[in-house]
Amino acid sequence: MMTLVLAAMMMAQAPDWILVNGNIYTVNPRQPKAQALAVRGDRLVAVGSNEQVRALAGPNTRVVDAGGRTVLPGLIDAHVHMLGLGESLASLDLREVASPEAAAELVRREAARRQPGEWIQGRSWDQNKWPGKEFPTHAPLTAAAPNNPVYLTRVDGHAGWVNRKAMELAGITASTADPSGGRLIRDSAGQPTGVLIDRAQGLVGSKIPPLTPQQLKEALERAARECARLGLTGVHDAGAGMNVITAYKELIEEKRFPLRTYAMIGGAGGTLDEYLKRGPEIGYGGGRLTVRSIKMMVDGALGSRGAALLEPYSDEPGNRGLIMLSAGEFERVCDRALDRGFQVNTHAIGDRANRLVLDVYEAALLARKEFLRNHRFRIEHAQILASEDIPRLARLGVIASMQATHATSDMPWAEARVGPTRVKGAYAWQSVLKSGARLANGSDFPVESPNPLWGLYAAITRQDHKGNPPNGWFPDQRLSREEALRSFTLDAAYAAFEENEKGSLEVGKLADFVMLSRDVMTLPPADILKTEVLRTVLGGETVYEKR
Ligand SMILES: [Zn+2]
Repeated sequence: MMTLVLAAMMMAQAPDWILVNGNIYTVNPRQPKAQALAVRGDRLVAVGSNEQVRALAGPNTRVVDAGGRTVLPGLIDAHVHMLGLGESLASLDLREVASPEAAAELVRREAARRQPGEWIQGRSWDQNKWPGKEFPTHAPLTAAAPNNPVYLTRVDGHAGWVNRKAMELAGITASTADPSGGRLIRDSAGQPTGVLIDRAQGLVGSKIPPLTPQQLKEALERAARECARLGLTGVHDAGAGMNVITAYKELIEEKRFPLRTYAMIGGAGGTLDEYLKRGPEIGYGGGRLTVRSIKMMVDGALGSRGAALLEPYSDEPGNRGLIMLSAGEFERVCDRALDRGFQVNTHAIGDRANRLVLDVYEAALLARKEFLRNHRFRIEHAQILASEDIPRLARLGVIASMQATHATSDMPWAEARVGPTRVKGAYAWQSVLKSGARLANGSDFPVESPNPLWGLYAAITRQDHKGNPPNGWFPDQRLSREEALRSFTLDAAYAAFEENEKGSLEVGKLADFVMLSRDVMTLPPADILKTEVLRTVLGGETVYEKR
């Protein structure tokens, strides 16, 4: 009898499946490497050697042989825009097209699949890659899609290329004036040719109907599947409205969402007020969605010189960038957030913006000593920090949420913007870590690629994909592989109060992990870019497998 009960208990406790022969990096400092792990339900029930884990297997336990492949905790991107990714995945990618005619051919094929009148959108064309390097005209697009409005944005987002149908819907004619801050490209007769510069893009952009709730869900699902394919098991969505949060919940209920989302509430409006009233929402749908943070924004970006600097731009004397939020309004949000148990995550790029955020956080936190320990307020980007402000992060317990690929995208021009002294505090990951602050990594996709392996590569090399500059851009600020991996796993989890649930492979934590084709922790950095995700496991369930 006793034996039977024991056997029954053993059966009930046997793992659902085990993974053996793995080259497992756990990100658990007490047990950095392992060969095998065991999964029951959505949790890890053992992490250890092949022998230890095989011994736990029952008659119904499935065995997956990793064949020596590398396994990492599921990667977490701490700053993303899910809807943006979902929309960009559904639009035509024109990055590689070699001529306006080649772009028009893609549009023609798309039009054949669409109803007349449906919008066709695309992105990332660049006339500098085409013969003649001239702006295109509407003519090839008009011929390709006479009955569908077409709107294609340039690679930098500062120009739109449209067809005749789109111009008709927008009422654009020879008599249309250039809007302030924008320009219509015209032919010698004054006729708009179909390229709209900067603010003029709004003439057409404003005519594109907003996504229906159905399309919104499809976009988020598409983005989530892309994340799973790339080895991401978690994302922090930097600015979600109630429509997006509702769509997340429906997708989770419908089992169409192979990802965990930590949604930051978009800074203003009804969604924020409603959540401040009802309080945080933690671990919805078996830990697939948490809403307990607020996204704020205090300045612009460095590329367009909108980032707020303490001293003028080195390449534009007189311009110190823009602060977009009053300190008073910002303080009120921080106060309400602390009162209601919400984290505040604030976009700050320039050193003036970062100082303002630290000042406001400090004032709000000092007024409430009991919250100082576990508020986990964050600065999103923290791109340019005055050297005297860096130690304040650790002192106040503020997390730096930075994006490795921003550094490698911006490095060709960043020093021109800020000069040789301030650039030392730019994308200063190692200075931030050495100061004792916590660093969460991410991509800001779709601004950068969502591929977290590209992020790891950028973090450890500070080089572009061709290996330039040779030793890396300000190589002292590179992260070690261990630091980089931690920033995309355990510390990204910490930045969401989730380090006890995920971010490392330990007994009791969620069974979120990825299997890779190569060992990214030892191979030459350039080979990280050639590494493939073979399998993504979320809560014990394989949500992506390479075929
Ligand atoms: Zn962002």
